[in-house]
Amino acid sequence: MEYYRLKLIWDTNITGIFLIFVSVLLQVWLLFCDDNSQTWLIMESLRRAAQSTWENIWIGMFAENEFLIKTVGTVAVGLVCFLLANFIFLLIDLTGYPSWIYKYKIQEDKNFPVEKRRALDVFKTALFNLVVINLFFMVMSYPLLNWYGTFRCTGPLPSFGELVVHFTVFRILEECGNYYGHRILHMPQFYKYHKKHHEWTAPIGMVAVYCGPIEHFFGNILPVSAGPFIMKSHLFVAWLWELLVLTSVTIEHSGYHIPFLFSPEGHDFHHKTFTSWYGTMAFLDVLHGTDKPFSSSVQGRRQFVSCSLTPVKESVPGEICNKHL
Ligand SMILES: [Zn+2]
Ligand SMILES: [Zn+2]
Repeated sequence: MEYYRLKLIWDTNITGIFLIFVSVLLQVWLLFCDDNSQTWLIMESLRRAAQSTWENIWIGMFAENEFLIKTVGTVAVGLVCFLLANFIFLLIDLTGYPSWIYKYKIQEDKNFPVEKRRALDVFKTALFNLVVINLFFMVMSYPLLNWYGTFRCTGPLPSFGELVVHFTVFRILEECGNYYGHRILHMPQFYKYHKKHHEWTAPIGMVAVYCGPIEHFFGNILPVSAGPFIMKSHLFVAWLWELLVLTSVTIEHSGYHIPFLFSPEGHDFHHKTFTSWYGTMAFLDVLHGTDKPFSSSVQGRRQFVSCSLTPVKESVPGEICNKHL
């Protein structure tokens, strides 16, 4: 296999690899720490703070009503995370300020500033999906969650090690569901369900959940909830996962390659060209050869975490592909 394709897998996943590496180091360190060491005390106080925050939410907001906390609570957490993650991006996209961020825009001449009418249309669909469809899904799956014993909301929070293992499994399952689901949606007989999402060839953050209900259910809800369900995760872990997913899909659709954040070049390329880069972690795209148009493009060479304030389009110059492949 060509070197640049292997490098692409490494560059795409460098943030995740780094986080897992730090987590393993920390876990090993904790194993050798005694109960009074500085690291152990810091970790323990973090765990206690999380536990008491959780108990306050649990007792204060939902009065120990498990049905409400699992359904309305999960929907509310998702909605708040989405609104918070999109607030700054939306402000920039609507006003065109601060103007210096323009140098990080991937498709320079597109949606800067964005048309208010189009942004409102995306906002309404996103709200419908995140509130109505998500609530419907949570209410309908509630008996199944209880029967299977997942999303427990009482008892101690999981340990740090458990959290890292759960998140790694969630991410791999999400990538598999996302990649194959996305490829199915691009088959001629199913593309009608995915067409709406591709109306935006130069996406903005909120486009992450801009799609019809069928795509939202099969392409978003199922891959994201498969991990917490199968792993019988604590509800607190599932909510943290929700936060992580909604923030990362917003960045992925933002249209800006911002220093020190992971690269959204791959998914941006997919929105513009339609037939390359269906996943987010690169390994399934490389395995099935669907990375090739992207990995051989100038945007493919820009798929890395930029650790400099110089925009990647200056450090890796070249014309980006603007056609439907
Ligand atoms: Zn997309
Ligand atoms: Zn697509």
